[in-house]
Amino acid sequence: MKKNNINIILTSLLLCLLIVLLLGNKHFNKVPKEPNKYKEITIQNNKNKEDKNKNRDKNQPSSSFTWIDDDGLQLAIDRLLPLAKELDVKLTFAIITSRFGEEKFVSKDAVQEIYNEGFDIIDHGYAHDNDYRPTEMNEEELRKDLTKTKEIWEEMGIPSNHHVIPFGANTPTTEKVYYDYFDSAIMTSITKNDPEEGIGEPNYLPLRNYRIERISYNRSSLEYIKRQIDNAAKNNGWVIIYSHMAVDDYDEVMLV
Ligand SMILES: [Zn+2]
Repeated sequence: MKKNNINIILTSLLLCLLIVLLLGNKHFNKVPKEPNKYKEITIQNNKNKEDKNKNRDKNQPSSSFTWIDDDGLQLAIDRLLPLAKELDVKLTFAIITSRFGEEKFVSKDAVQEIYNEGFDIIDHGYAHDNDYRPTEMNEEELRKDLTKTKEIWEEMGIPSNHHVIPFGANTPTTEKVYYDYFDSAIMTSITKNDPEEGIGEPNYLPLRNYRIERISYNRSSLEYIKRQIDNAAKNNGWVIIYSHMAVDDYDEVMLV
């Protein structure tokens, strides 16, 4: 019974994802180093709606939807991947590179296979230590961690230009370091934190590449998530949902 409920929720959310994906392009491929360039291209082009639709092409940003599952636990991947394949949608997995070979975590070979199947794999740091987070590290320690994680991706032949910040927090110092290593840094939710309805909002232009925001799957109602998707679709926003599908308390929260 519980499993059926989970499947219904996941299927409906993934269907929303499919619809928005059909409308939009992937942002990951075109997050530029200079946010202003992005602003120039899009805000001006979007002023005239008719014009926008007429001249719509691959280089023109539109609304997008991304689903990122964090940490690379095998159970989460086992739950999400079959559904994603069934519905033909692409998910993104944020992988902690020090966990390869650890029990319950996805292996290097499996990540390679998922990547080869066309899913996005992005970096989620090396240490990912709850007791010693990136915001507690000094600059040198953080750079060491990121150098290590990038080396592993390079060995595996998987691009590592996007980073999900472990535990989500970002300071001016960490932001500066992320700029040196990545094209984007993705946080947890920051603009909205209302447990009554949901956590996080879509990203709108001009995109802040090193402060990209996400919406919590676990801490938002289905209605809240749908509303954010509708807003993003109307306003060229980018919705990123994040989940920890191995541990999320989905059955109770999401069925409201
Ligand atoms: Zn994490």
